[in-house]
Amino acid sequence: MASIQLNNVIKRYGNGKHALQVIHGVNATIADREFIVIVGPSGCGKSTLLRMVAGLEEISGGEISIGNRVVNQLEPAERDIAMVFQNYALYPHMSVFDNMAYGLKIKKVPIDEIKIRVDKAAKILELGHLLERKPRQLSGGQRQRVAMGRAIVRQPQVFLFDEPLSNLDAKLRVQTRLEIQKLHRELGITALFVTHDQVEAMTLAQRMIVMNAGRMEQFGTPEEVYNRPATTFVASFIGSPPMNLLRNAPGGRAGAIMGIRPEHLDIGHTGWELRVETVELLGAERLVYCRLGDDQIIVRTDEHHPAPATDSIIHVAPREDRLHWFDAASGKRI
Ligand code: ADP
Repeated sequence: MASIQLNNVIKRYGNGKHALQVIHGVNATIADREFIVIVGPSGCGKSTLLRMVAGLEEISGGEISIGNRVVNQLEPAERDIAMVFQNYALYPHMSVFDNMAYGLKIKKVPIDEIKIRVDKAAKILELGHLLERKPRQLSGGQRQRVAMGRAIVRQPQVFLFDEPLSNLDAKLRVQTRLEIQKLHRELGITALFVTHDQVEAMTLAQRMIVMNAGRMEQFGTPEEVYNRPATTFVASFIGSPPMNLLRNAPGGRAGAIMGIRPEHLDIGHTGWELRVETVELLGAERLVYCRLGDDQIIVRTDEHHPAPATDSIIHVAPREDRLHWFDAASGKRI
């Protein structure tokens, strides 16, 4: 396994006055065996960043190192990485075993060694009983596991995952997420995992890179990113429902945006006077959508609280120790 270093990495598409810069100088040091998730909305540059690490996109500026070796000029095959995509791209006419073994056969790894590696990967991924099947005889989740197995048997220095769970249904996504966590524990792999799904990011990452419009907004553990978002963008992107961001909160500071998460607002007899717009029941919890002047405020309560009626006025108190403050002009945490 290996560490990964990104030094002021830049990506431009096109040349001259038609050039479009989509990555604006990303810096990150990823430790050996770390599981890093790159998360952000569609078009923010996550895939481009991953593909530059893989060598599938040229780097316009800066430097990428894998295991202390600058890889800028190296072909993908020379970088010692394995990539798992959203589309598993298995060979339909080959068995599961042959799909996993194919890359090793090409590299002329001895057949005994191939068998050992495929059997080991199949055991970890619980594919042992499916090795003779063809891809069409597998479920979507099983196919994605074969695609991961194909990456594992190569024993690369780094695993790159590009939205590998997006084609699976909700239940399978959760299950496969658990399998990937297990895989990381058992193999101690260095991994870069791209997703637009903040729940996936929060549950999988040891540390996460939150991207916005080609820039890294924050790099930290899920707890840091959730509890101390660096910008209003991160505050509203991570967490569902998002953090309330109030420009004109009573008791607010001039020139600052107040942030408060929906679970840190208590309905009671004191605090802000809010009008209830709608109430969403989500099983164990309840989301109360309110209005305070121009700001919308979401309050999260549990099932033990009676649901307030639409159009009623309620009192909501923010927990003082859970307030966040952001500069109104830059959006940066104060
Ligand atoms: P994400 O993976 O976060 O959805 P991408 O990395 O795919 O985002 O894209 C980042 C930006 O780069 C987008 O604005 C996209 O339109 C642009 N882009 C991606 N590929 C190309 C390309 N081959 N030529 C020009 N622009 C591209």
